[in-house]
Amino acid sequence: MVRLIVLLFGLSLLGDDSAENQLARDIFRELIEINTSDSIGDTTKAADAMAVRLRDAGFPEADIQVLGPHPRKGNLVARYRGAGRRKPLLLVAHLDVVEALRDDWSVDPFKFLEKDDFFWGRGTTDDKAMAAVWIATFIRYRQQHFVPDRDLIVALTADEEGGTYNGIQWLLANHRELIDGEYALNEGGESQMKEGKYVLNAVQSSEKMYQSFRLETRNSGGHSSRPVKDNAIYRLAEGLTRLSKYQFPIRLNEVTTEYYKRMAALYSGQIAADMRAVAKNPSDRAAAERLSKSPYDNALLRTTCVATRLEAGHADNALPQTARAIVNCRILPGDSSSEVRSTLIRVLQDSKISVSALDSTTMSEPSPLKPEVFRAIEQITAEVWPGVPVVPSMSTGATDGLFLRNAGIPTYGISGFFEDVEDTRAHGRDERLGVKQFYEGREFLYRLVKALSS
Ligand SMILES: [Zn+2]
Repeated sequence: MVRLIVLLFGLSLLGDDSAENQLARDIFRELIEINTSDSIGDTTKAADAMAVRLRDAGFPEADIQVLGPHPRKGNLVARYRGAGRRKPLLLVAHLDVVEALRDDWSVDPFKFLEKDDFFWGRGTTDDKAMAAVWIATFIRYRQQHFVPDRDLIVALTADEEGGTYNGIQWLLANHRELIDGEYALNEGGESQMKEGKYVLNAVQSSEKMYQSFRLETRNSGGHSSRPVKDNAIYRLAEGLTRLSKYQFPIRLNEVTTEYYKRMAALYSGQIAADMRAVAKNPSDRAAAERLSKSPYDNALLRTTCVATRLEAGHADNALPQTARAIVNCRILPGDSSSEVRSTLIRVLQDSKISVSALDSTTMSEPSPLKPEVFRAIEQITAEVWPGVPVVPSMSTGATDGLFLRNAGIPTYGISGFFEDVEDTRAHGRDERLGVKQFYEGREFLYRLVKALSS
């Protein structure tokens, strides 16, 4: 009886979806078993396999393209024709995966495996579940003769994780018309579970900017048997000590303000009060300082800069002629690299320590919290996972959403594939995604795209 009730409940929740699950699972398996790592993998192979799936499902040849700047770095772009009443909706996932060595893993990373209620394999969470579901969704819509009110575009891309042929950047630079949309859905959202309980569904609307600086001080050096007061290592070390005590000012944006407003409801006591306080008044120093004891909250509340590398000297018996450090910064949207550089110079308080920016960074403004998008995500989250709150978030790392946002395409990271926050294995060993969570995410994304194009 209990089983029957569970079964009936499951059916009413998700519909009779075994055929859809099977299709998504097949596509997922095919993608996992094509190695798409930078060293020996091939995203063109994966893009071609997805193109075959779409062709077999009846998509016209003209609406499916595999293209890229290198034979092993192909991207798939496919268009589902709609009624053209609004600008297209862009659905993004990356095909490439981080390297995975058989010896490091307990199972073969490039063999799709269902075991212990999980799907195992490199890319199961990052980001092939999403890629598989976009393709499965296109096929399912077509079988249903669904006519969206706008075109839907799927872009499955290369080199998000590394490599020199980032697919999104290349498509924006060379074939913007193919992927131009009103806004995009991408990875980067976090659907979080804790000890089996679904905690929240986070929508990534913003991300921080990555920027490293080289600090360097030079000295004429000399014999270490006759030390002088002015020493390159001491100078740099003292500057770094001053930096270690400095904290960038607290600053909230639309996304983090809304994040804290909503997160406050999930906590109680002092933490909840502090979250409410900073959302209301970011200059509430006491609340912000208590919150920023957590490294994650600290990273959300301010730009951070931290020393990550150090090198100095050239011989055990010589005074150092140079001392260098790398300081890695994660800059809040709205701050600029040059402002951060000026702050570093001011905080180091030593004109003999030079500060130079290393990589050329890309600024990214937060995507506006579009009510249309958030309402749909909230409504469908409530249907599939009743009671689970939707929270906007800012990534402290970076995704391809950066390039899209800079190109004027607002981007929302939303996955629907719930993962345990204490056991995330993306980029690591034995990457896996819950079977149930994969099927739920499939249904969620299927409904979400339909809602955003009806
Ligand atoms: Zn990823």
